[in-house]
Amino acid sequence: MEFKSSYLQGIYETVCKRNPNEPEFLQAVKEVLESLEPVVAKRQDLVDAGIIERMVEPERFVQFRVPWVDDAGKVQVNRGFRVQFNSAIGPYKGGLRFHPSVCASVIKFLGFEQTFKNSLTGLPMGGGKGGCDFDPKGKSEGEVMRFCQSFMTELMKHIGPDTDVPAGDMGVGAREIGYMYGQFHRLSNTNSCVLTGKRVGAGGSLARTEATGYGLLYFVEEMLKTLKNDSVKGKTIIVSGSGNVAIYAVEKAHELGGKVVAMYDSNGYVYDKDGIKLDVIKQIKEVERARISEYAKRVPGAEYHEGCKGIWGIKCDIALPCATQNEISAEDAQKLVDNGVLVVAEGANMPSTPEAIEIFQKNGVLFAPAKASNAGGVAVSGLEMCQNSMRYNWSFEEVDAKLKTIMQEIFHNSFNASREFGDEGNLVMGANIAGFLKVAEAMKWHGVAY
Ligand code: NDP
Repeated sequence: MEFKSSYLQGIYETVCKRNPNEPEFLQAVKEVLESLEPVVAKRQDLVDAGIIERMVEPERFVQFRVPWVDDAGKVQVNRGFRVQFNSAIGPYKGGLRFHPSVCASVIKFLGFEQTFKNSLTGLPMGGGKGGCDFDPKGKSEGEVMRFCQSFMTELMKHIGPDTDVPAGDMGVGAREIGYMYGQFHRLSNTNSCVLTGKRVGAGGSLARTEATGYGLLYFVEEMLKTLKNDSVKGKTIIVSGSGNVAIYAVEKAHELGGKVVAMYDSNGYVYDKDGIKLDVIKQIKEVERARISEYAKRVPGAEYHEGCKGIWGIKCDIALPCATQNEISAEDAQKLVDNGVLVVAEGANMPSTPEAIEIFQKNGVLFAPAKASNAGGVAVSGLEMCQNSMRYNWSFEEVDAKLKTIMQEIFHNSFNASREFGDEGNLVMGANIAGFLKVAEAMKWHGVAY
C-alpha cells in the first residue's frame, strides 16, 4: 500500500489504470493524494461527494494536428494539446508550452497542478494547460509565426474569455503570444481577453514578464522572515535555467541583496563567483536567443561547464530551480544539503523529484513547492484579465504591489494549512491542502453532476 487510507489507495490505483505510460501525471497526482491523507480523515463530507475522484479526471482533454509550412516549402506536422482540468472556481487558466518533450503526460501533470496553484492565488481561475511538441529553437521568425497561426486556428475552437484563457510557458513568450493573439483577433473579429502575457500596449499587463521570478523571491523573502527571522540579503544563490522565470528571479534576488553565482541552459552552466551580470544574460537570452556559453566568452573570470548537473554541487544558501520538471534528483539534493543549503524554492513546475523533496524535508531545508512559490505568473495573468475586463491599466508599481501581497498570502495560507492539518512547516502538504479545499468546497456546492 502506498497510502495509509484505502480510499486514497483505490483512487490512485484507478488513476494508474486509466493513465498508463504517463509518469509525470502520476507523480503529480500521487504527491497531492499523499498530502490529502489528513483531509480525508477529517472531512467525510468531501469523501461522500466524490470530490477527489472527480478532481483527478480532467473535465476535457483535446489533442489536435498542427500542420504548417517550413521555409523550404515542406509541410510539417506537430501535435497540439489543451487540457481543461477544472473550472469549479473560474475559467480554465494555464500556459501553453512549446517544447519537443510535450506529450499528454506532461500537459496533464501541468494542468492538474495548475488547478491548485490558481486556487492558491485567491483569484477566480480554474486549471488548464496546453502546448505542442514544436521546438521553436532554430526556427526562423516566419516559421514560428506560421506555426503559431496554425496552432491558434484549431485552439480557438476551445477557448474564450469566460471559458479558457491560456498564457505562455516554456518556449512561449510575448512573441508567440502576439502571433497567436493576432490570428485569434483576425478570425474571430473580437478583441477579447483570450490570452494573457500580451505585449504591453496590446492589452498586456505591466509586470507580467517579471511576475513569476519576482513572485518567487517575494515568497522566499516572506518564508525566511517568518520562519528564520532572516532575509535574502547577503545570501549566495544558484538559479537553474536562463529563461523567463530564471532571469527575473535573478533580477529580484539581486535587488534584495542576494548574489546569484550560477545559471544554466540545457547545454551547460556558467559560474561567476563575482555574481552573474544580468544585463549580459538578458542580451544573450532575450535579444540574441543564443547559448549561455556565450557568457563566459564575454565576462572575464566567468567559467562555462558543459552539462547541467554540476550546478547542484556549487555551495549556496538558496537554490532556485527554474528550468524544467525533475531537474533535481536525489543525488543533486544530497549535494545541496551537504553544502549547507538553507532554502530550496521551486520556480519551475515540479523540478524536484519526490526523493529529492524527501531529502530536503528530512534535513530541515526550507522547501517551497512550485504550486505555491511560482504562482506569481498566473496571479498577474489573472490581474491582466481583470484589467482587460475593466478596459483599464494599472501601473507597474500597482501590479507589483498586488503580486507581492498575493505571494505573501500564499505563503501564510500554505503554512497555516500545514499547521492545522498536523505537519507544521510542510509547505508541500500545506499548499496542496489550501489549494484543494477551496476548489473542493466549490465542487461540493455545484452538486455531484459537476
Ligand atoms: P523558458 O522557455 O523561458 O526557459 C526555460 C529554461 O529552462 C531555458 O533556459 C531552457 O534552456 C531550460 N531548460 C529547458 N529544459 C531543460 C532541460 N531539460 N535541462 C536543462 N535546462 C532546460 O521557460 P520559462 O522560464 O517560462 O519556464 C521555466 C519553468 O517555469 C517551466 O517549468 C514552466 O512551466 C515554469 N513556469 C513558468 C511560468 C511563466 O510565467 N513563464 C509560470 C509558472 C511556472 P534551453 O534554452 O537550452 O532550452
